[in-house]
Amino acid sequence: MTKKKKVDVAVIGAGPGGYVAAIKAAQMGRSVVLIEKKDLGGTCLNVGCIPSKTLLSNAKVLQKIKNAKNYGIEVGEISFNYTKMKERKDEVVSQIKQSLEKLIYSNGIEIIKGEAEFISPYELKIRGNSHELVCAEKIIIATGSKPIDISAFPCDHNRICNSTSILDIKELPKSLVIIGGGYIGCEFASLFAELEVKVTIIEALPSIVQAQGQVISAHLTRSFVKRGISILTDSTVETIDKKQKGLLVHLKGGEKVESEMAIVAVGRKLNTQDLHLEKAGVSLGLKGEIEVNERLETKVTGIYAIGDITAKAMLAHTASHQGIIAASNACGLKMQIHYDAVPEVIFTDPEIGMVGLSEDEAKKEGYHVSVGMFPFQALGKSIASMETEGFVQIIADKDTKAILGAQVVGHEASILIAEMALAINNELTLDCVIDTIHAHPTVSESWLEAALLANETPVHFPPKMKK
Ligand SMILES: Cc1cc2nc3c(=O)[nH]c(=O)nc-3n(C[C@H](O)[C@H](O)[C@H](O)COP(=O)(O)OP(=O)(O)OC[C@H]3O[C@@H](n4cnc5c(N)ncnc54)[C@H](O)[C@@H]3O)c2cc1C
Repeated sequence: MTKKKKVDVAVIGAGPGGYVAAIKAAQMGRSVVLIEKKDLGGTCLNVGCIPSKTLLSNAKVLQKIKNAKNYGIEVGEISFNYTKMKERKDEVVSQIKQSLEKLIYSNGIEIIKGEAEFISPYELKIRGNSHELVCAEKIIIATGSKPIDISAFPCDHNRICNSTSILDIKELPKSLVIIGGGYIGCEFASLFAELEVKVTIIEALPSIVQAQGQVISAHLTRSFVKRGISILTDSTVETIDKKQKGLLVHLKGGEKVESEMAIVAVGRKLNTQDLHLEKAGVSLGLKGEIEVNERLETKVTGIYAIGDITAKAMLAHTASHQGIIAASNACGLKMQIHYDAVPEVIFTDPEIGMVGLSEDEAKKEGYHVSVGMFPFQALGKSIASMETEGFVQIIADKDTKAILGAQVVGHEASILIAEMALAINNELTLDCVIDTIHAHPTVSESWLEAALLANETPVHFPPKMKK
């Protein structure tokens, strides 16, 4: 029998967009249901950010131990057990999922297990253990995305995996081809190379992490090649033959690459197919995304969309931030989203962090650009901890000294980039960074030095020669 329920707000999808939106709406006094067809936490917690970073943290420890002798520490023979690493990853996911469930319930939110589809602009049918009909004044769509499968070489999730199924392997292959050199492909390359797998990245574009700009891409390429990762750019995979042992990957132009396994990491497909959006009158854009305005409302009053499904900076923290804004608007506020200060981190080795405009983008926008680039080789804390690879860079407007963008390549980039996100989001200038006392010796001092360089008043760097 179909149960009927009436609520103020229904949220479809319990990823970092959906569950945050549900919590916000509940905190604003609304009755809320959160509908999830698989696992609480969505892609991010179950098959994205958290499991991949847990495995990467294993690799980081291994790297530290391998380098221990440089610090005067003898460790003897080093070995590792990937099955145990994978088990630790599963435990981390399960632990966070349990806490998340408690958190959602503690906010008085009802979780409905099942798949939602629209039957009208304010009614949802949910197919799960029981069939339910939810009638909601406001609906927030947060159904996320999934890996794209290529029909010429579909994933069998055994030897040809995607970003989800690769997280389930219990034993490492000896060699691995990664098809796609975007941030997800590069993070897997970094992980498996550290675990002594022979990795080859095949990228159709002229460079890996091309979307992140030339400076970042060139540095990561150099660093990957030094670590033994092979990179084939301007290369397209046509088909993959499954041999008795391993795979033969055929590239356009006749080149072939042998490998034991492959990961297909060529992009994400947005989860709109089964929602029956036409019954609600919600339209899709050219990329298949749900079109929303700056208040994250679709063209249908009362229906909002957030997260990957909007195809804007497809990252967990963007989804969560959109969740707060959409839920606040659904509860009567008038908030707008802007994407000028979305930090982006790639958890490769070296780590990469970016926020705001790159130098090229700032020039294209007509700014009179000033760049302050400070290498970690010149920083006391980096030398002390033997983490001297990379640099920080600030892009500023020469006329107003406003900070327009920042990039970091190297140790702790993921943490460092937060200072610049705060600066750009609050329209701070170079002087604000220069006037802030940065603790010594820390890697965050590199921002002070970069700001001084962009200001043409360097302290721990030789001044530019006057012509
Ligand atoms: C390998 C990998 C690593 C990543 N690393 C990072 C990272 O380090 N940092 C970062 O910021 N981002 C990272 N991401 C991206 C991040 O995971 C996504 O941007 C984020 O999860 C998007 O959140 P979301 O809420 O929009 O959707 P999702 O997290 O995809 O959640 C959507 C949820 O909706 C559910 N759903 C779908 N359709 C329905 C339906 N009809 N009814 C009910 N439920 C439905 C799904 O089951 C899913 O649980 C990574 C992604 C991958 C794949």
